[in-house]
Amino acid sequence: MLTSLSDILGKAKEGHYGVPAILTCNLMTVQAVIAAAEEEQSPVILLCGGGQAVDLDYLGRVMTDWAEKATVPVTMCLDHSPSFEDAVRGIHAGFKAIMVDRSQLPFEENVEQVAELVRIAHAAGVEVESELGHVGMGDNYAVDGHSAFTVPAEAVEFVERTGVDCLAVAVGTAHGVYKGTPELHFDLLQELAKKVPVPLVLHGGSGSGDDNLAKACQLGIAKVNIANDVVRAAYTKLEENGMEGNAIYSIFDLMFEGYKERSQYLMRLFGCAGKAA
Ligand SMILES: [Zn+2]
Repeated sequence: MLTSLSDILGKAKEGHYGVPAILTCNLMTVQAVIAAAEEEQSPVILLCGGGQAVDLDYLGRVMTDWAEKATVPVTMCLDHSPSFEDAVRGIHAGFKAIMVDRSQLPFEENVEQVAELVRIAHAAGVEVESELGHVGMGDNYAVDGHSAFTVPAEAVEFVERTGVDCLAVAVGTAHGVYKGTPELHFDLLQELAKKVPVPLVLHGGSGSGDDNLAKACQLGIAKVNIANDVVRAAYTKLEENGMEGNAIYSIFDLMFEGYKERSQYLMRLFGCAGKAA
């Protein structure tokens, strides 16, 4: 069933579990992620990276259609939306939520741009995720992983002034593949979870370590963004099965299986398996 992001995340925050927001870029990945959620009786979030989507309006319709047909709560979020136009395109395409990431801007400009889009999105019945502090890139982890953490007092002020529905925080994760070992700052996460009134989001979930992710979900992360991890799982499935000769015809089934199996694993790890009701 098509559900709002805050409905899914509100229950996750209350129940001390996390829900994966899994990269979906076409019909196959949408179907694989929803099939995983139905098998695990789990809520799930379809995450559109924007860049991969050739046609955002079409993907919005595909996601809406499959989310409505699903027997478990499903919502969809357009990730990052780097420009004003990207965000409005996401609203127009039917996403239930958009992320408006202005985390590289100074605080006041971040507040100003996010607040403007929150007003527009909310008027259209769309929710907004934003980011404070900055989650950088894993391949630059030596620098990005240790700078620009979220400051709790600023996060409280930011949520109050912008009206965002959930907030991505920087507590030591990074996007993509890590060069170095990710180190998560759980004390900071706990403080944020206690003080910030809206559910918290973790970007850069892939490769952050199973123990770290499970603990982060228990301590207040309600949404974990996953991209690299599931794409890698689909590729590994092909490698394991050998693609010689006519075996190549099973390429899509295998990618589907790889995507689905990894999604199920994450639902169990984050604690949302069995929480569909
Ligand atoms: Zn991100």
